[in-house]
Amino acid sequence: MEVISSQRPERTTYGLNKPTAAYFPQPGSKLYADKKLYEKIASSEKKLIQTHWIMPRSAIAAEVPAKSVFRIRTPKGPQVGDLNIWNRHNSREKFWAARTRQLHSAHVSKFDRLWSNLPYLRPMVTIIGDTLNARHDEWGGRVHDTLGTRCDPYVEKLISGEDNDFHCHSNLIRAVMPYGLTEFDIHDVLNVFQVTGLDEYDQYFMETCPSDKGDYFECFAEQDLLVALSACPGGDLSQWDWGEQKDDVDSKGMVQCCRPLVIEIYQLNDPETILKDWDPPKTPNYGGNHGLRQP
Ligand SMILES: [Zn+2]
Repeated sequence: MEVISSQRPERTTYGLNKPTAAYFPQPGSKLYADKKLYEKIASSEKKLIQTHWIMPRSAIAAEVPAKSVFRIRTPKGPQVGDLNIWNRHNSREKFWAARTRQLHSAHVSKFDRLWSNLPYLRPMVTIIGDTLNARHDEWGGRVHDTLGTRCDPYVEKLISGEDNDFHCHSNLIRAVMPYGLTEFDIHDVLNVFQVTGLDEYDQYFMETCPSDKGDYFECFAEQDLLVALSACPGGDLSQWDWGEQKDDVDSKGMVQCCRPLVIEIYQLNDPETILKDWDPPKTPNYGGNHGLRQP
C-alpha cells in the first residue's frame, strides 16, 4: 500500500554530532524524583480505601487525596485507559502531556512524574509502579504513551461519517460532569497500557496492548487530585479501525476486545515516617510578569 507522508523513510548523513536529551536527565536533576524516597513509598504498607470498576466504553472520575497512591489495573486482561488529572481544588491546573514528554520521555514509567501546565509546572503524580517495566519491542513500540491523545467523536465523524458517543473524550466528559467540569476541561491524556511509537515515516502507530490480568500502573499523588480514566472503546487495540474502509464500528470486532479497568486508591499506613523527606510540590517561583509593565 502506498504511504502518504511528508516525511522520507531514508536518512541523510550531514556529519552532525549525536544530539543529547534536551532536558537534563543527569543525577541530581531537579526534574527527577528521589528514587530512594519513592521506592520506600512503593514498598510501604498501605490500606485499600476505594475500588472503582470502569466498565467497557465508559469512564469514572475519583478524588485522590495528596500523599495517597492510586493503582490502575487490567483485571480481565489487555485494555488501554485514557487518563486525565486535575488539581482537585483548581481545575485549571491539569496534566501537561507535551511538557512531560520533553522532561522525561514520550513513554513513561517508574520514577517519571506527570507534570502540570503553566503557570503551575509541578508534579501532579510520581509513578511508583509499572509491571510492564518500560517495555520496548522490536518495532520501537513502548508502553504508557504521551504521544497520542484520546479518541474523540469529531475525528471519527470526519473519517467515517458516523456518530459515536463512547469515545474516550465523551466518556471523560460524562465522568467529570458531576464535579462541575465540562468538555473544555478534558485534556491530552496519558494512554495507560498503550503501546505506541513513530515509524520510519515519523507516523504514529499503536500495537496490541500487552497487559495481563496481574498488570498495574501505580502513582503517588503529589497533590489533592481529581483523576478520570476511560476504558477506551478500542479495547486492547488489536482490532483498531474507525476506518475509512469499513462501515459499522460495532461490526469490526472492537467491542469483543473491550475489557474493564480498575482504579484502586490506597492510604499509607504510616505517612509520617514514610514521607519524612517528602515536600509538597511547589510552583517555580518565577518573579517576572512576562515583561509586562504597569502603565
Ligand atoms: Zn479511546
